[in-house]
Amino acid sequence: MKFGTNEQKKKYMRIAANEGIFAFGLTEPDAGSDAAGLKTTAKRDGDYYVVNGRKAWITNAGVADVYIVMAKTSPEKGVKGISAFIVEKGTPGFTVCSDEEKMGMRGSNTAGLIFEDMRVPKENMLGKEGDGFKIAMVSLDCARISIGAIACGLSEHALEIAKNYAKERIAFGKPISNFQAIQFKIADMVIGIENMKLITYNVAEKYAKGEEFTVDAACCKVYAGETCCRICDEAIQILGGNGYSKEYPAERLYRDAKLLVIGEGTSEILRMLIGRTTLAD
Ligand SMILES: Cc1cc2nc3c(=O)[nH]c(=O)nc-3n(C[C@H](O)[C@H](O)[C@H](O)COP(=O)(O)OP(=O)(O)OC[C@H]3O[C@@H](n4cnc5c(N)ncnc54)[C@H](O)[C@@H]3O)c2cc1C
Repeated sequence: MKFGTNEQKKKYMRIAANEGIFAFGLTEPDAGSDAAGLKTTAKRDGDYYVVNGRKAWITNAGVADVYIVMAKTSPEKGVKGISAFIVEKGTPGFTVCSDEEKMGMRGSNTAGLIFEDMRVPKENMLGKEGDGFKIAMVSLDCARISIGAIACGLSEHALEIAKNYAKERIAFGKPISNFQAIQFKIADMVIGIENMKLITYNVAEKYAKGEEFTVDAACCKVYAGETCCRICDEAIQILGGNGYSKEYPAERLYRDAKLLVIGEGTSEILRMLIGRTTLAD
């Protein structure tokens, strides 16, 4: 919405307000971390752009009403040749592939998209020609704050499960919560959650105030995502064999948490961003 024209804002805010679902189409089978290497093209033809290519791993694919799709309008211009398009579901030439069989986050649809001579009206370009990569990067910065929030919720759930189990499970004649090794695990979970809340609130506040937040959002995602993975791992450890069982909820949280260090920029790519930006200062 930040980059839309008034007409686009009016139309798509109404869809969003009516619980419309949106999807973000950047990743392709051969372009993930190296998003600028995307191969989908959009060629101008009168009042339309003709889009051809594929997207991979798109959250909400098949259930979304509206897709933001990045495509190359001027391949020779590199990142400056990428543009963003608003594509409505049901547009002729647009097919959604079957759902990915994921290890976690199985409550959310993820699938590929195929565009075959899909005609998109020129009014559906988001921003100007060549703005697509910038729009994608700003969108990812914002999404990284949401990952911080998801990590907080997932981690709090893992802590709750581990805490309750530790108080009930008896070993050596005592609840395992009496053992210092378990208390320390619980303490480290609490410390991690407190820190990820602070880092998430901090970057959310910067965003709300209109301050620069790219590096903060990257730090937030790396820290919260990785800490959440560790917390879910420790929750399984506290549940022992039961933690490894699908009858208990800890293993699901562990599988869900792993996405937080992959989607919206992997930890490796974000460490590169943080390191390079800091060194350039
Ligand atoms: C469940 C799920 C939902 C997703 N939803 C969306 C979505 O809605 N929209 C969308 O556009 N994308 C989505 N993605 C895609 C996601 O953003 C990519 O998977 C992610 O960016 C990594 O790209 P890749 O999978 O191609 O891995 P690759 O880029 O192939 O990376 C593989 C490994 O190499 C490492 N690596 C790559 N380059 C470097 C480097 N230069 N230095 C060091 N290490 C490097 C990576 O960190 C990673 O560990 C989703 C992915 C998943 C799993």
